[in-house]
Amino acid sequence: MEAKLADLKNRLQEIYDLTAAAGLLYWDQSTYMPRGGAPARARQLAALERLTHEKFTDPALGRLLDDLRPHEESLPYEHDDAALIRVTRRHYERETRVPVEFAARMSSHAAESYHAWTEARPANDFKRVQPYLEKTLDLSRELAEFFPDKDHLADPLIAYSDYGMQAETVRAIFADLRERLVPLVQAISAQPPADDSCLRKTYPEDRQLAFGLEVIKRFGYDFERGRQDKTHHPFAIKFSIGDVRITTRVKEDFLGEALFSTMHESGHAMYEQGLAPGYEGTLLARGTSSGVHESQSRLWENLVGRSRGFWEFFYPQLQMVFPDQLKDVSLDTFYRAINKVERSLIRTDADEVTYNLHVMLRFDFELAMLEGRLAIADLPEAWHERFKADFGITAPDDRDGVLQDVHWFSGRIGGVFQGYTLGNILSAQFYEAALAAQPSIPDEIRRGEFGTLHGWLKEAIYQHGRKFTAAELTERVTGGPLSVEPYIRYLKTKYGELYDLSGAEA
Ligand code: ZN
Repeated sequence: MEAKLADLKNRLQEIYDLTAAAGLLYWDQSTYMPRGGAPARARQLAALERLTHEKFTDPALGRLLDDLRPHEESLPYEHDDAALIRVTRRHYERETRVPVEFAARMSSHAAESYHAWTEARPANDFKRVQPYLEKTLDLSRELAEFFPDKDHLADPLIAYSDYGMQAETVRAIFADLRERLVPLVQAISAQPPADDSCLRKTYPEDRQLAFGLEVIKRFGYDFERGRQDKTHHPFAIKFSIGDVRITTRVKEDFLGEALFSTMHESGHAMYEQGLAPGYEGTLLARGTSSGVHESQSRLWENLVGRSRGFWEFFYPQLQMVFPDQLKDVSLDTFYRAINKVERSLIRTDADEVTYNLHVMLRFDFELAMLEGRLAIADLPEAWHERFKADFGITAPDDRDGVLQDVHWFSGRIGGVFQGYTLGNILSAQFYEAALAAQPSIPDEIRRGEFGTLHGWLKEAIYQHGRKFTAAELTERVTGGPLSVEPYIRYLKTKYGELYDLSGAEA
């Protein structure tokens, strides 16, 4: 049994290394690669994808997993070996359903489509990407059809990033949240908007970057095992537990951009840096779902980074870094500015209160496209209509409408957005659990100390990687299933101090 387990780990190590190599090519494509590299890069990524897929679907791996079943069944569910065999089998069964030829075709199409999108968005030219998107929808349907057990075409696609969730479950959670959120948005939007002009002065890039790095160093992001570079669309990526990188983008005329994206991505990265070292090289060495991952980025970005206590410590320092811009701006004004609620066009710029409405729009559209109720050609118009209905404003063009997010243009349609809102919900639920276990956390944050919080998250969440599903982890950490209550409580408490919410009480 020991020899078989070692064989399994060797095979997984090879897959892990190939995946990391593909990740490095992707990281380079998104940071430093010259435009001319795009066609070859698409081919290179497809080649690595094909190799990974072949190794993952090797019948010998299937036989090995069968041989290891008695060993798995002899161990407690929580044993690392049992988890390793269980999670590997889950992935093996999923991968063997998708033919090698198809996986390569999809990956190569994704790279070409991404390249087309980088040109179409600045040109506000939806027509240029429409044929790519139509093919992406066809491929996404084709992909879903490889999985026979499903209630909805989106189910297997959702399972790729949020295993254990179904379209119907997500629909129900979102309906619940939406019902509570809309009155809040309406109550706040009826009041004069916060003045965020203090964030919209000129803030030199180098000092913005330096301040952001100082903050996440204090959070506990380990620069011996990470670095930050610039990109168009910020992300975090792991090549090994010893090399987890983040990217950001800077706007010199808006202080909120790089700062909060840096905190956000550091949350993703600390999750991956905090994995149990023994999981390295296996499928357990990864955050368990996109929802749980997003809960960690949002926790650091919003529950910590946009809290008053955090800025009681950091604001005097920020004022010293930008004396001309901030010396006459009070903490109170700054705090209101970074928590300004407004119905805006861009999801990634949206505040905590309206953000989830952006996600729900995309999730609903994914289901509609997969079901054939919404054609790609009609997407820009449908976007503008729904946006008007939900937000009361209209995007002037498609650049800030349907073309704004990279997701559909660089992967698949289906299952790619729900994690953001599941993450917001979970961030508040996990944070409540952290405060219940460690009541000193808020005082420490006011002193610029994050060790207790970071330590608790490592212990409760990070170290486990994929050992537990999102649902299992939520149950273990919070003592119950996913619930929107803590998130609504958090929003009402925080924004109740900033706005009059008496009209939103239902
Ligand atoms: Zn994120």
